[in-house]
Amino acid sequence: MNTPRTVLVVGGGAAGCAATILLRRAGIAVDLIEAKADWNATAGSGITLQGNALRVLRELGVWEEVRRSGYGFGAVGITAPDGTVLHVAEDLRTGGDDLPATVGMQRPHLQRILIDAVRASGAGVRLGVRATDLDQDDSGVTVRCTDGTEQRYDLVIAADGLGSATRAAIGITDKPEPTGMAIWRIATPRPAGVTRTDLAYGGPAYIAGYCPTSDDTLYAYVVEANRDRASIPAASYADEMRRLARHYGGNWPEITAHITDPALVNYTWFDRMLVEGSWHRGRVVLVGDAAHCCPPTLAQGAAMSLEDAWVLAQLLTASDTWDDALFQAYHERRIARVRAVVDASVQLGQWQLDGVRDADVPGLMGRTMTMLRELP
Ligand SMILES: Cc1cc2nc3c(=O)[nH]c(=O)nc-3n(C[C@H](O)[C@H](O)[C@H](O)COP(=O)(O)OP(=O)(O)OC[C@H]3O[C@@H](n4cnc5c(N)ncnc54)[C@H](O)[C@@H]3O)c2cc1C
Repeated sequence: MNTPRTVLVVGGGAAGCAATILLRRAGIAVDLIEAKADWNATAGSGITLQGNALRVLRELGVWEEVRRSGYGFGAVGITAPDGTVLHVAEDLRTGGDDLPATVGMQRPHLQRILIDAVRASGAGVRLGVRATDLDQDDSGVTVRCTDGTEQRYDLVIAADGLGSATRAAIGITDKPEPTGMAIWRIATPRPAGVTRTDLAYGGPAYIAGYCPTSDDTLYAYVVEANRDRASIPAASYADEMRRLARHYGGNWPEITAHITDPALVNYTWFDRMLVEGSWHRGRVVLVGDAAHCCPPTLAQGAAMSLEDAWVLAQLLTASDTWDDALFQAYHERRIARVRAVVDASVQLGQWQLDGVRDADVPGLMGRTMTMLRELP
C-alpha cells in the first residue's frame, strides 16, 4: 500500500501552524517554510477568538496557554456613540459549554504560543524562505525554494494567506477583492471598565469597537470607508485614528488618549474571497486565508482557518491514500460552512455601506453562530 507521509507546509500563520502540529502528532514528517525571517513580525494588534476557534486550539494542546494569556468573556455590548449601553447580548458558546464564548488576545501572544507548539512538534522550520517552483506528478511534488533547497514531498499544504503565491502557482485564479471598508487598529492599556467587546454604531465611523485582550490590555478599532493607502502617510496613522475615535464616549476617551504613536497603529482594508471550486490541484491543497477570507465583522477568519487545518488533518491521518477523493471530501466538509461565514461577514458590512437601517443583524449573526456550534 502506498503510504505517503511527508508534507511541506507553506506559511506559518494560524492555519499553517495548526496543520503542522496535528500532522506531526500523527508521526508525519513536516517541513514548514515561512516567508518572514522574523516569524512573529507584524502579527498585528489583537484578535477575537470565539468558541469554535478555541475548540481547535484545545485540540492543538494550547488551550491552557491561550486561556492564561487572553481575556475570556461571554457578552457583547451595543452602545450609542456617546457610550450609552443600548443592549447587551449573550454570546453563543460556539465551541461548546465547556469553553468560553469568546477570548480576546494580543495577536503576537497567540502567534508565540503556536510557534512554540510547532517547534516542540519537531517539524523542520525554515524562516525567510519561499517556494520558487512546484513540479508535481501523481506521486508527489518536487519543491525548489529560495534557500536553494530542492526536496520531494507527498503533499504541499498552502497556508500562505490571502495573497497566496502557491494558490496562483497551481492555477487557481481567485483573488481577494476589497469590500469597501478599512479598519484602524491599536493595542492600548485596558480601562478597568472594559470587560467585554462593545460596539458603537453611528458617529463618524461605521463601527467603533474594542476587545479586552488581557488583564492589562485591549485592542481598539474604528472602521471607515477604504481610502487609497498611498495617500495616507504612515506618520499620520495616529492622527487619522484619533480623528475618528475622539467622537466616541464611554471608555473611548481613556483609550483615545493612548493613540499617539503612529507606528503602533495598523491600517488594513477589508477583503473578500472564496475559492468556490476544489481547494486542491493534484497534491497541493489550500487552507485558511489562501482559500477564503472575509471582513472581521463576525471575527471568524482565523477560526475558519484553524478549522480547515483540523478537518484536513483528520482526513489525512485517517487515510493511507492521499488522493483526489480525499481532497474533494475536505472541500465538501468545508465549503458550505465557510461560504455561510464569508457571505454573512460581507453582508454585515454591506448593510452598513448601504445605510440599511432595518437589517436583521441579530438574526443573521444568531443563525451563523448557531450553525458554528456544530462540529466542522
Ligand atoms: C483587520 C482584521 C481583523 C481580523 N480579526 C479577526 C478576529 O478577530 N478573529 C478571527 O478569527 N479572525 C480575524 N481576522 C482574520 C484572520 O486574521 C485570518 O483569517 C487569519 O490570520 C488567517 O490565517 P492564515 O494562517 O490562513 O493566514 P496568515 O495569518 O496570513 O498567515 C500566512 C503566513 O504565510 C506567510 N507567507 C506568505 N506568503 C508566503 C510564501 N510565499 N512562502 C512562505 N510563507 C508565506 C506569511 O508571512 C504568514 O506568516 C481578521 C482579519 C483582518 C484583516
